Amino acid sequence: MQFVPETEEQSALRKLARDVADRELAPRAAHWDETEEFPHESWRAIADAGLFGVTIGEEFGGAGLTDLEGTIVLEELARADVSSAILCQLIFNGAPRAIEHLGNDALKDRWLPRAANGESLFCLGITEPDAGSAVQHMQTRLTEDGDGFRLTGYKNYVTSGHVASACLVWTRFPGSKGANGIGSVIVDLQRPGVKVTGIHKKMGPRGKAEAELAFDDVRVEPDEVLVRGEPDNVNAFRSLLSHLNHERCGNASMCVGAAQGALEYAIRYMNERKLGDRPIADLQGLQWKIADMAIRVEEARLLLYRAVGMAGPGGTPPALESALAKAAANLAARFVCDEAIQILGGYGYSREYPVERMYRDIRGLLIGAGTVEVQRNYIASKVLKGDAPASPAWRDPF
Ligand SMILES: Cc1cc2nc3c(=O)[nH]c(=O)nc-3n(C[C@H](O)[C@H](O)[C@H](O)COP(=O)(O)OP(=O)(O)OC[C@H]3O[C@@H](n4cnc5c(N)ncnc54)[C@H](O)[C@@H]3O)c2cc1C
Repeated sequence: MQFVPETEEQSALRKLARDVADRELAPRAAHWDETEEFPHESWRAIADAGLFGVTIGEEFGGAGLTDLEGTIVLEELARADVSSAILCQLIFNGAPRAIEHLGNDALKDRWLPRAANGESLFCLGITEPDAGSAVQHMQTRLTEDGDGFRLTGYKNYVTSGHVASACLVWTRFPGSKGANGIGSVIVDLQRPGVKVTGIHKKMGPRGKAEAELAFDDVRVEPDEVLVRGEPDNVNAFRSLLSHLNHERCGNASMCVGAAQGALEYAIRYMNERKLGDRPIADLQGLQWKIADMAIRVEEARLLLYRAVGMAGPGGTPPALESALAKAAANLAARFVCDEAIQILGGYGYSREYPVERMYRDIRGLLIGAGTVEVQRNYIASKVLKGDAPASPAWRDPF
């Protein structure tokens, strides 16, 4: 896959997202962080610009574009504010995307128009207190209830679970054990039996919260089943796992965008900050930091654009390329945001400057959507078996 310049339409989309980010998101980013309020104004601005619908099909009111365009938007929004960019991530690469790819017509007709116009937010309920990386140990389960089911379980770390309209819940279907029979349902969060039991207190991004959700005998209608788990096989579980590649690439997009924002801020600061009568940009020790930061951002960006480019229209980014992109973008963002703090000296550590927030905002992205360690496990398992990433230079080692 060659790295090609953006089309005119993609450049226009980038400009639109950048304008929204500069005008509406950046000026309020510190406010959401300080107050830990939900970024309502960002939500409205993103909706008014029509950006929520970028990856949703035209028949549901969206623009019907690909993961590549989703990446462009996420990068630009996260460059200004990760708390606000995540609103788009939850639409582009969360429940609405899964409904569009895997769901039935009733689910699509009910939820996708509301996702595209920004009327509803959606969340993902996968993690449980004793089932994070090893999600196959989950306890959440369905029991038969006439033509449908009843859902009982507890999910934590559900991003925006306290404000979302619907949740994509990973759950055991009746009779399931281990990874067998894990499937998913879409739960209307207004339904009796759903309760927000807590909000995690965390370092960032503080403008969006992770909720704890309890499901107590919640009715699930037959057409609210997204992927049906069968007790004798892992097919449904595999299909859900592979669909997470969208989320991984979205996570990587936000890391690349935030790292870009931190790098640009550090460059501006180096040109303005003087020691005596010389700008600190004259110091070679700091110039090399900027070079290393630029290298890391561009490495990650290339891997990311390859992964999303390989998805194509209506497709899913391939697993190995997504894992490479996510791990590279996570580590690049941590490195770049940390170095930006160092370049600003004491001011970098101060909450009066944005780079310490950028560091806190990206830090959780190394944990969500599959930790860096889990990505490394996957990459190593594939490469050791001789499964090469999509680079023509790789040869079969055996
Ligand atoms: C900001 C944020 C947002 C999130 N949003 C959501 C959400 O919307 N929905 C949702 O369902 N979940 C969400 N999560 C939860 C996230 O997916 C889990 O935290 C993650 O999967 C790790 O699970 P855990 O926290 O239980 O850690 P554990 O699985 O207990 O892992 C602990 C440590 O062990 C390492 N580890 C685990 N297994 C291995 C292994 N085999 N080899 C090497 N190291 C290993 C991990 O990398 C980690 O460092 C979010 C998390 C964060 C931080």
